[in-house]
This record gives sequence, C-alpha cells and structure tokens, in this order.
Amino acid sequence: MDFYKHRIGIMGGTFDPIHIGHLILGEAAYEQLGLEKVLYMPSGNPPHKQHREGRASDLQRTEMVKIAISGNPHFELSLMEMHEEGYTYTYRTLETLRSKNPDTEYCFIIGADSLFQFHTWMQPQRICDACTLAVAVRDNVSMATLRKAVQETEDRFHTTIEILHTTNLDISSNMLRDWVHHGRSIRYYVPEQVREYILQNGIYDSQK
Ligand code: ATP
Ligand code: MG
Repeated sequence: MDFYKHRIGIMGGTFDPIHIGHLILGEAAYEQLGLEKVLYMPSGNPPHKQHREGRASDLQRTEMVKIAISGNPHFELSLMEMHEEGYTYTYRTLETLRSKNPDTEYCFIIGADSLFQFHTWMQPQRICDACTLAVAVRDNVSMATLRKAVQETEDRFHTTIEILHTTNLDISSNMLRDWVHHGRSIRYYVPEQVREYILQNGIYDSQK
C-alpha cells in the first residue's frame, strides 16, 4: 500500500465558462476526500482553435477561473495544461506531477459523463496508475448507474475510484454559452464577477 504525505485534488476542464457546478464539485471533493487543496486546471486549446467564434480564448477562460476561485483559500489555479503547442493529455500531466511530487496522491475529480467516456481517453490505464479518480453524479444518473460504471472501470483498470456525494446540478457550460448568446440571464449560475466579465467582454455573443 502506498503511503502519501499529501493529497491534492485536480479539477480539469475547458471551463468555457467555469460555473457553480465546477466549484461545488471541487468543494465537495476537498471536504469529502480530506484534500489539502484543489487545483483548477484549464485545458489548453491548440492555436488553430483559439478565438473560435462563440467561444472564449485561453486567456479569457483562465481569467474566469482565476476570478471564480479567488475567494476560496484552498482552491488554486494551475496553468500546467496551458501550452502554446495546444493539446495536453491528462496522463502526461499526472505523470509529470507524480514524478515531481512522489509523496503526493493526486485525486482527479470528474463528473459521471467523464467517467462514461473515460475508456476513450488517451492512456486510461496510465491515468489510473498515476491518480485516484473521484466521480460525482451528473445528468441525473442514478447512484445505481454510477456505482455500476465505477465498478466496471475499477475492474477494467485494477483501480479504486472514490464516489463523491453531491446533489445533481443540471448545469453545463454549453447551456450557459447558449443562454448568453440568446441574451438570457446566467446570474447565479456563475459567480457574479464571472458573469460581469462575460458581459463586459462580449464573450459568447457571436454565432456559434
Ligand atoms: P461543456 O458543456 O462545454 O462540455 P461542462 O459544463 O461539461 O462544459 P467541462 O469543462 O467540460 O464543463 O467539465 C469539466 C469537468 O467538470 C468534467 O469532468 C465534468 O464532468 C465536470 N462537470 C461539469 N459540470 C458539472 C456538473 N454540473 N455536475 C457534475 N460535474 C460537472
Ligand atoms: Mg463537458
């Protein structure tokens, strides 16, 4: 059995934009897994995907994460996946972190939709070997369905997965982009300063 001195959470995502689902998930993981801190790690976009119509740039996504987590002392921004070269892979990020900090257990926090797709990710076995996955319900999946997917993934990759106990939050960035685009209010779905930032910069105004 491994012995770790530290336990750190990682919330990866495109955060386009970051919303309260991401924040509540990070806080639940912090509390339930006894984490030291949670790293919010926006994934990079390759240069040819920068400034896509109806999407935020890397800089804007990063800024929104920064604003959203600023009031929480145990949330931290990590720019590890923000490379100019573009795509980064979770397994590489985790292996880099593990080799730099061998006494730290990394808990990679995901929603159920990500767990269902997990086997299609690049090098899922290496991800399991480098971290502990922690998963929460999403899209109203039942606990039974989630447990089944957890069990299957555990068996397939010889790993142990943590289940987080959170309420289902029916929020996605995609839905919020659509609402902004159609002039509908996203107040309370994102931190107020994030909402202001989106409106002031006209993000998501243009046609998708
Ligand atoms: P998009 O609609 O653009 O896909 P998203 O809301 O799914 O955005 P992502 O940045 O893709 O957000 O998600 C990052 C991680 O957060 C994923 O593991 C995802 O499952 C999880 N997540 C996002 N929203 C929720 C939510 N409402 N409840 C639980 N998990 C969530
Ligand atoms: Mg998503």
